[in-house]
Amino acid sequence: MSGYGTSVFEVMSRLAIEHNSINLGQGFPDEDGPLDVRQAAADALMTGLNQYPPMLGIPELRQAVARHAKRFYGLDVDWQREVMVGSGATEVLNDCMLGLIEPGDEVVVIEPTYDCYLPIIRRAGGVPRLVRVTPPDWTLPRADLEAAFSERTKLVLLNNPHNPAAKVYSEDDLAFIAGLVVRHDALAVCDEVYEHIVFDGRRHRPLIGFPGMRDRCVRIGSAGKTFSLTGWKVGYATACPELLAPIAKTHQFVTFTTAPNLQAAVAYGLGKDDDYFQGLSDEMCAKRDRFAAGLARLGFGVIDCEGTYFVTADIRPLGFDGDDVAFCRHITVAAKVTAVPVSAFYMTDGPEHFVRFCFSKKEAILDEAIARLEKLFGARENA
Ligand code: PMP
Ligand code: GLN
Repeated sequence: MSGYGTSVFEVMSRLAIEHNSINLGQGFPDEDGPLDVRQAAADALMTGLNQYPPMLGIPELRQAVARHAKRFYGLDVDWQREVMVGSGATEVLNDCMLGLIEPGDEVVVIEPTYDCYLPIIRRAGGVPRLVRVTPPDWTLPRADLEAAFSERTKLVLLNNPHNPAAKVYSEDDLAFIAGLVVRHDALAVCDEVYEHIVFDGRRHRPLIGFPGMRDRCVRIGSAGKTFSLTGWKVGYATACPELLAPIAKTHQFVTFTTAPNLQAAVAYGLGKDDDYFQGLSDEMCAKRDRFAAGLARLGFGVIDCEGTYFVTADIRPLGFDGDDVAFCRHITVAAKVTAVPVSAFYMTDGPEHFVRFCFSKKEAILDEAIARLEKLFGARENA
């Protein structure tokens, strides 16, 4: 791993701590998720779920994942053969790459990429084929995507809703991707950790529900985002038995199991009523609106945010003399507000004047961050 630096999230979080700044870099909420879910974990811990659980996950959680798929997406899932629990979406993504890729296989990925994607594809022997989307509209270039597929394509790794683009792929784009996967006899690994954080009446549509995808897709979710408990690291994969088998074999040699008390609580959480899930989106959407309006008032070029915890902003209107990396350091030190540079999500030559802010924070914190940035840059007339 000597060719890789420390993750941008860790670098910026350390800098934020060092300068005692408001950390809107790394994506995590500053309020823990529902009390009843945390209580369920505490109860499970005190009443005995503390030894190795079954390798695929406790039956209650696998059943809950299957029921959740039926309730939200109308998918019929066999909890015994088609669901696996892992230690966060991150572990499950690793399991997928190690379990599904043979050295030399090509993996189509849309850039900007979430930080672990390229390292895990490469360590698994895969060859990334990058397709680039760029702000402000992050439009999927279909011809490029089509050209990235070849007879060596093993799979496409799709993040939807997309971090950091905050984009929810349209029905049309998803159908197009599904068509390419079928045509090239490939697979799709779908990182859908933000499935319940989509805004403005949008509905998340898992690729696995598209024609031809049921037996070609791995769908990955995470309790971290769905219950605002990012430190728990409980993720789950849903896939047909033939696809799940090599993923589960990898899991057995990586972590083997995941904390059983947390699994029990997540099983409980996935059964919460629809109001909970709608409430999560509504709350995050209100935070987005508040923070994005503040950034716009300061003159940032705010990019549309359709889902996730993140809003991207163009820093050029502020007249700062430097790139996105310098800007993020500057505001950390001078305003005590931290963001992450969007160029960090590109392998090379990414756009250099966009920064990503995480808005899953208390309103008072978001307001304070805007006030601090305003002190540094001043508000713009007519912004
Ligand atoms: N995928 C994406 C796109 C993410 O933003 C994150 C960060 N939460 C993860 C995966 C990792 O999820 P987990 O914490 O469950 O490993
Ligand atoms: N998903 C979070 C983000 O995009 C970070 C998780 C991590 O630090 N690895 O900010």
